[in-house]
Amino acid sequence: MSAPLTIAVDGPAGTGKSSVSRGLARALGARYLNTGAMYRIVTLAVLRAGVAPDDAVAVAELAAGVDLAVGFDPDEDLYFLGGEDVSLEIRGDAVTKAVSAVSAVPEVRTRLVERQRELADGTVAVVVEGRDIGTVVLPDADLKVYLTASPEERARRRNDQNVESGQPGDYDAVLADVLRRDHLDSTRAVSPLRAADDAIVVDSSDMSQSETVARLLDLVEHLDERMREEQKARR
Ligand code: C5P
Repeated sequence: MSAPLTIAVDGPAGTGKSSVSRGLARALGARYLNTGAMYRIVTLAVLRAGVAPDDAVAVAELAAGVDLAVGFDPDEDLYFLGGEDVSLEIRGDAVTKAVSAVSAVPEVRTRLVERQRELADGTVAVVVEGRDIGTVVLPDADLKVYLTASPEERARRRNDQNVESGQPGDYDAVLADVLRRDHLDSTRAVSPLRAADDAIVVDSSDMSQSETVARLLDLVEHLDERMREEQKARR
């Protein structure tokens, strides 16, 4: 029997990455690991401690002691800080604004990458979602997908989600935030957001969520074929 599949899904904010990764994990009966949530939990701990998110030294010190736990089930969205369920709070504005600064701190990344590798150790099938999964966390993943969409489309989707969840809609502010986070994530010194050389880029601007999941499932189904072709090309 072949080893359980490890699938990396990277890409910028607002591509529908989480829903698509969850859908893929569900269809494959795999675990789902949301690494962005781990950076959000550390960010929440930073904010609660009254530490400035851009004080790298203090953030690094605090991050070393953060007790975090994440759920694995694609049908649940459960995240814990020191045993407390913070699943909702980590999605709030305060955390979203501060998370790029916290995740740019090298010590934070080293610690979380280590945890992520332990959680995705290849013993069970897993879909791991993030920014640096294919490039840094799991460079040997069986399939690497870089999911993208135009900034305008991503802002539109995010704004629609906000409105659906009862928040006031403000497309321009959401677009500005999408562009700000893209810039911070792709220009940081450690593990900047970029597609791995061997990632398959999927642009979901004109695809629905279920179409995107279907496209990824198709990539999984043709994995063996592609690996054989790549091996042939390397010879
Ligand atoms: O995926 P999500 O938008 O929740 O991620 C929140 C933030 O966490 C990102 O904007 C990015 O700064 C950071 N992140 C990261 N590396 C990952 C996942 C997320 O730096 N693997």
